[in-house]
Amino acid sequence: MTILPWQTAHWTRLQASRQRGALAHAMLFCGAAGLGKRAFVQRFVHGLLCSEPTDGEPCGQCRGCLLIAAGSHPDLALLSFGLRKDGVQRSEIVVDQIRELSARLAMNSQFGGWQVVIIDPADAMNAAAANALLKTLEEPATQTMLILLADAPWRLPQTIRSRCQRVEFQLPAEAEALAWLQAEGVRHPAEALAAAAGNPGLAKAWAEEGALERRQEVRKDLAALAAGRGQPTDMVKRWLDNEPAQRLWFAAQATADEIRARSTAATGPLASAMDIEALTHWYAAANRTREALRGPLRGDLLLLELLAQWR
Ligand SMILES: [Zn+2]
Repeated sequence: MTILPWQTAHWTRLQASRQRGALAHAMLFCGAAGLGKRAFVQRFVHGLLCSEPTDGEPCGQCRGCLLIAAGSHPDLALLSFGLRKDGVQRSEIVVDQIRELSARLAMNSQFGGWQVVIIDPADAMNAAAANALLKTLEEPATQTMLILLADAPWRLPQTIRSRCQRVEFQLPAEAEALAWLQAEGVRHPAEALAAAAGNPGLAKAWAEEGALERRQEVRKDLAALAAGRGQPTDMVKRWLDNEPAQRLWFAAQATADEIRARSTAATGPLASAMDIEALTHWYAAANRTREALRGPLRGDLLLLELLAQWR
């Protein structure tokens, strides 16, 4: 676990606040999935609960560090999806969980240091849970730290967001991301980064699980359809069997490239017969279909409707 290059500024700032004794009691760590914010938070919190940290880094040997490694530090709690009475995992964080947490925070820390609670994913709190949390945020106790982790912070009520210090992870500059991917041994780093729209963590994960081949296949499929070759029904089956949402992301991306190419040339890399307006519509439809795949409608019908419109 190392601090990633695009995280160092946040790390330095947090450690400076720590040394001044000016850490916030509530912090919201947010940014796209794939930028390593969870690992960052873990490291930060471990350093906070370590009795001999160096520049905020945990020593790994003190009582606090050993308890964290064993998953049993009494002053650290992680709140995530709980189980319903029938044993099924809930898809949201509910008010009872927040009440339990508030009761816990009202007590003193057992080791006399920070008492830390991490809510992850905080954007999965339902409205009642968020309301209950607001009360806790309005009356912060000394030496307690509430950490909210969210990929989609805009889903949190503004009243909660405004009471947290925001630590937002942004996409790094392209050169920095490429250098990191190269150091990580990712083959075709530029292609992987383009596929992941500049997100290096996602680029690495995708490159390792064969997404780049999938991306090529999607482009080949769309080019074949534009040339009047290939059957949408065959493609639907292939796409649906293997990462359909990711394929739709790549299809939308290919369409955006096609639109961009038209500004300088008569035809784009896919040689689509559609004009820019039709391509723009199709791009939006591909993104809508990607969202709709999570819903109750039949994926094969959604995909067929979309692919049948491609020219
Ligand atoms: Zn330690």
